[in-house]
Amino acid sequence: MNCVKHSIRGFSAARLHSTNRLNQNAQFRTIHTAGRNASAIAAPPRPGPRFSSTRSASPGLSTMATTVNASGDSYDYDLFCIGAGSGGTRAARMAASTYGAKVAIAEMPYDPIASDEKGGAGGTCVLRGCVPKKLFVYCSEYSEAFKDAEGFGWQIPGKPTLDWGTFLEKKNSELKRLNGVYMRLLEGAGVEVHEGRGTVVDAHTVAVNGKTFTAKNILIATGGKAFKPDIEGAEHAIISDHALEITEVPESVAVIGGGYIGVEFAGIFANLGSQTHLVYRQPLPLRGFDEEVRNFAAEQYALNPGMHIHASRNPKKIVKLPNGKLQLTLGCANSAEPDEVIEVDHVMMATGRKPNVGNLGLEGAGVELDGRGAIKVDEYSRTTCPSIWAVGDVTGRMELTPVALMESMALLQTLFNDNPTKPDHTNIATAVFSHPQIGTVGMSEEQAIKEFKNVDVYTSSFRPMRNTISGSEGRTFMKLIVAADSLKVVGVHMVGPDSAEIMQGMGVAVKMGVTKTQLDSVVGIHPSSAEEFVTMRSPSRTIRDGKQV
Ligand SMILES: Cc1cc2nc3c(=O)[nH]c(=O)nc-3n(C[C@H](O)[C@H](O)[C@H](O)COP(=O)(O)OP(=O)(O)OC[C@H]3O[C@@H](n4cnc5c(N)ncnc54)[C@H](O)[C@@H]3O)c2cc1C
Repeated sequence: MNCVKHSIRGFSAARLHSTNRLNQNAQFRTIHTAGRNASAIAAPPRPGPRFSSTRSASPGLSTMATTVNASGDSYDYDLFCIGAGSGGTRAARMAASTYGAKVAIAEMPYDPIASDEKGGAGGTCVLRGCVPKKLFVYCSEYSEAFKDAEGFGWQIPGKPTLDWGTFLEKKNSELKRLNGVYMRLLEGAGVEVHEGRGTVVDAHTVAVNGKTFTAKNILIATGGKAFKPDIEGAEHAIISDHALEITEVPESVAVIGGGYIGVEFAGIFANLGSQTHLVYRQPLPLRGFDEEVRNFAAEQYALNPGMHIHASRNPKKIVKLPNGKLQLTLGCANSAEPDEVIEVDHVMMATGRKPNVGNLGLEGAGVELDGRGAIKVDEYSRTTCPSIWAVGDVTGRMELTPVALMESMALLQTLFNDNPTKPDHTNIATAVFSHPQIGTVGMSEEQAIKEFKNVDVYTSSFRPMRNTISGSEGRTFMKLIVAADSLKVVGVHMVGPDSAEIMQGMGVAVKMGVTKTQLDSVVGIHPSSAEEFVTMRSPSRTIRDGKQV
């Protein structure tokens, strides 16, 4: 059943639409290969609007129902998902519950540290990403809250101390609970869960634990995994999975990487009281973000007394010392300055993540990878094998949980609702949970100038009201980028407390095409930081024909 390779770019929407119509409107019938009725029976009516397929009467039962389409192909499932993280779980449970599809999912047994044999329903976001990371952020930020409270006159007898064991225990039981919730969501929707590592055998066959299952469509949602640079002593370094399981707050730590995971963990450790060395190769952290935001964020990070920033530095080697500490050598990324050597308890590599495609059997099915090792997909998330689809981090499009969910929802429309739908990656609001937080949606100033040439930039930097009394030096920065000819707001950025919460609302406005005039007509909420977004009246910079005037 191997696929014929074809050019995905050449696979037009019209063709996809007609193929989909043919497949989805075909008449299905059920053959129970075991159980009460061994003869073919007519399919019962399905809850979904247009999709007609079959599922076994009792989803948890081992009784295997086979779906058969008009051309006589028969499959165990309509959809088989490999990976029960954000993307796979959403696709599987909605395919089963909304469209009545017969669905299976493969996921590996639960473990907080991911490996080729271990994972767990919920995936990276729930078990070793967004959720535990945010719990760490909350836990670490109390240190500042205690200081701020003293600024307001609260008397805190003695130095507040953290019982790390209690926090870890509570965090772990929350993750276990969420893992159970994900399993119940799948099973409750009628999805058959196969515990084990799934591999693709061919265009319509998946193997789990030596058993094979056929499916009309296969979805690969295997996510990504942390990548460590190949330097001497890299085996001594931890990654984010380990950092989220660390049994003691380290006295000192080096976090390598200026991406969002690096700056978030550096903020966590520094707030927990660790002497934290944040190391990145560029002169500024957060490559790809608005330059002014990068500058402002770096300045704010440096205010934290526990934070030591090593910009334009590369890790060269790690040596484990007899006292158990790690000696980290940092080279200079862009000049001939001498190496720096620091001694820390832990080195955490936050040097990027790679799509999780190893030993999945993709070659056998003609599923191709792109230059970065991600699964190549067309605009509908179809791989180079027509019956195999991929969503989420494994496609390397935009590695965020809500994006994986959105890609799955679009795919379900394509596969089961006779409505070919492309995932829309424009104007997605996102946040960095560093200290301080960053929220952003749309274009950076640099991108907007390239795209529109005529741009108005509104900025505001201020000391938030809380800090006038708390004594904290922290400031907030807000920025609106407006395409001057249309007055459309094409970028919104914020660095400061509550940026993530505020940016979700701004994300709605930008997605709906809000103009600066419309923002100006909004009455603010006072007193708040957010009101600044509707009260910035005079541009800080006007750019015409690509040049500042
Ligand atoms: C430290 C960290 C913090 C993050 N913070 C945020 C954040 O704040 N906000 C945000 O939006 N995103 C965040 N992310 C990113 C987010 O977690 C991912 O974008 C999201 O989980 C991607 O979902 P996915 O379905 O593609 O993959 P995953 O959630 O990674 O799920 C893949 C699943 O596939 C399983 N699997 C892999 N191979 C197989 C196989 N062969 N057989 C069976 N199962 C298999 C894995 O065990 C896993 O459960 C963070 C990531 C990390 C690492």
